[in-house]
Amino acid sequence: MSNDASAFIKEYCAKTGRDPARLLDVAREVQARFGCVSPQSITAISREMKLPRADVEGLVTFYAFLSTAPKGRYVIRLCNDVVDMMKGARDVGEAFSRELGIKFGRTTADGLFSLEWTPCIGMSDQAPAALINETVFTHLDGDKARRIVGELRRGSTLEGMVDTFGDGNNAHPLVRSMVMNNIRMRGPVIFSDLQPGSALKKALALSPAEVIRDIKTSRLRGRGGAGFPTGMKWDFTRQAEGAEKYVLCNADEGEPGTFKDRVILTECPHLFLEGMTIAGYAIGARKGIIYLRGEYAYLRAFLEKTIQDRRDSGLLGRGICGKAGFEFDIRVQMGAGAYVCGEETSLISSCEGSRGDPKNRPPFPAQKGFLGRPTVVNNVETFACAARILDQGPGWFANMGSNGSPGTKLLSVSGDCRRPGVYEVPFGIKLRDFLRMADASDAAAVQVGGPSGQMVGPADFDRTICYDDLATGGSIIVFDSKRDVLEIASAFMEFFVEESCGFCTPCRVGNFLLKQRLDKVLSGRGEPSDLDALRELAETVRFASRCGFGQTSPNPILTTLKNFRSAYEKRVKPNPERIEPSFDIRAALADAENITGRKSVLFPA
Ligand code: SF4
Repeated sequence: MSNDASAFIKEYCAKTGRDPARLLDVAREVQARFGCVSPQSITAISREMKLPRADVEGLVTFYAFLSTAPKGRYVIRLCNDVVDMMKGARDVGEAFSRELGIKFGRTTADGLFSLEWTPCIGMSDQAPAALINETVFTHLDGDKARRIVGELRRGSTLEGMVDTFGDGNNAHPLVRSMVMNNIRMRGPVIFSDLQPGSALKKALALSPAEVIRDIKTSRLRGRGGAGFPTGMKWDFTRQAEGAEKYVLCNADEGEPGTFKDRVILTECPHLFLEGMTIAGYAIGARKGIIYLRGEYAYLRAFLEKTIQDRRDSGLLGRGICGKAGFEFDIRVQMGAGAYVCGEETSLISSCEGSRGDPKNRPPFPAQKGFLGRPTVVNNVETFACAARILDQGPGWFANMGSNGSPGTKLLSVSGDCRRPGVYEVPFGIKLRDFLRMADASDAAAVQVGGPSGQMVGPADFDRTICYDDLATGGSIIVFDSKRDVLEIASAFMEFFVEESCGFCTPCRVGNFLLKQRLDKVLSGRGEPSDLDALRELAETVRFASRCGFGQTSPNPILTTLKNFRSAYEKRVKPNPERIEPSFDIRAALADAENITGRKSVLFPA
């Protein structure tokens, strides 16, 4: 390890106060500066932070954006989610690969570039997209890929290569990104103007118990998809014992096809920050943390400036809005590329400076959350709704939407539609009407709620989007009649296999076996009994997994088996010989034939 790295680690660890909860920040900084967190750096960090070396190594090897081996100066992470692949990511990948002269997963000999695939980066409405370090590149094609590589080789900077900015705050001097908001429909809750401080002042005129009463009266439910009543969550946390309490904002929308929080973070930062502050007042917390997904690092400086502006305006800090005794402040905690951290207990682990492993529940975060203290965890959209409720009144909010799902919902739609983007719609809208808005005239299948949600066909298009029918955290992916639902399900299962934290066997092994058997059917080697086996195994994984990840990961198979049965039945055929075709013997023999230069006589080609 260089003297530079050693001095940097010493200095940076001291800057964090050697707080173990800042370990992820330390590792991120070392990665950004030195291209890896080498084994020597791990030792130095563990010494400086006074943490077991295994804890530091465990963290570094958990997150996709950290590595123990050196990465190139430019790490190209090309998104390989289903929508990006539909829009041409494979061709873009080939162009990058050819231009760089390396395969995916490799680094060029001059140490300038690393090339990697990455799951959804929250840009499905402008796919294919890639992150190069922290800069987002959208609407890529082969020519653009070659040009990017050429310009970086000639010494251009990433910032200099973004010459056209997106709309709204994407053009802000602290963002300067080509990302477009693609707001297609503005509703009254999220996309209306807010005078910073107006909701907060109304909240501070009430007692904390009255604020919670208003949130309960509004019947606001968490916008992440599960729909737990927000007022009840705040009340549990308020009543939990503990001198220190926390407010955590989940800005880790990693569900493929979800990008609506990206737009709130960009265009309505005061709204959700105000919601966090109101939550702090309601539950008696002094500190809040925004857990910002690593993919949205380009928004970090802008958010931190907005937080500082609020401090300067007396909307954060001590004596907020002149309210004696009320103190609340917010910091940004960066993630580092782990889908599972969207699960609230994993997110808490990550905020604590650990691997993003889920925790057992109970105890629930309301009793024992961040650092073992009572904690409210809500996502960006939920906090934004809470602020609007305090501003406009709980009755105003409760009167929108449907009976069990009041208010509006932000939906991010992508795939085979002519108007991809973000829509604020009232809950209770029919899927068919929404597809019409998005101009998805040839929709044959729609993934509602991302891979962990459900795939529905035309027979379900008259169902409504709400918690009690088609629930979604915000992701709607449209597939037209040319797409193969089994291929899509296989891609989603691949995603779950990659992203499982590996803690429990049903999820770690079960998802792998599910993918393997699904691929057997997909390749035409399946028989009818495989379909029963798939369903049974999927049910087992769902039942026996430890956290929400494994409990929903078999959904691509379960929902396509239910709603697209004929697509499976077309692919399987009875096997009269009763010999289990568990693998492709010809493919298995091909390598051996190449090495020996002989052909199999028992299994001829
Ligand atoms: Fe980890 Fe999956 Fe088990 Fe959750 S269900 S703890 S993600 S292995």
